[in-house]
Amino acid sequence: MSASTTPSTSPASQFPVPVWSGNPDDGIVMTARALPSPAPITCQPWCEANNGHPGQRLREDQCCFGLEHRVPLSNEPIELIGNASSEQQYLSTYLMRPADDSASRVFIGYNEVPGRAATLEEARKFAHAILALADGIEVRPHRAGGGPAGD
Ligand SMILES: [Zn+2]
Repeated sequence: MSASTTPSTSPASQFPVPVWSGNPDDGIVMTARALPSPAPITCQPWCEANNGHPGQRLREDQCCFGLEHRVPLSNEPIELIGNASSEQQYLSTYLMRPADDSASRVFIGYNEVPGRAATLEEARKFAHAILALADGIEVRPHRAGGGPAGD
C-alpha cells in the first residue's frame, strides 16, 4: 500500500471536471457571456417601441408600453428634482403588457413614483368613478334650472 502518488495540491482533481474548452470536435462553443437575449416578442398594435423589444436580458423585461398621457396637477406644489430643476407634479397613464401576460393593463402613476397596473376593467371603473365625481360637481348647477326629465 503505497500512498506516494499524488500530492494533494489539487483537491478538485478527483472530480470529473467538465472540460468544454479543450475539445474542438464537439463544435459547441460555450462562452462565459451572459445568457442570450430572449427572442423578440410580437408587439401590441399600440406599442410605442414596436420592435419586439430585442436586447432585453429577461423575458419579463420585454414589455410593450403605449403612449403616455400626463395630466399636470396645477394645485400641487412644484417638485424639486435634484440639481435646482423642478417639475410640475402629474398623474400619468399608459397601456402596458408584459410578454407573457394574457391581457393588456392600464398603468396609473403619479410623478416618478412606481404606479400600479390595473386591468382594463379596473381602469374603466376608476375612470368612471372619477368622471362621476367630476361631472357630479359640474353638472348639478346646470340641471338646477329644471330641464326636461327624459334623456
Ligand atoms: Zn412592444
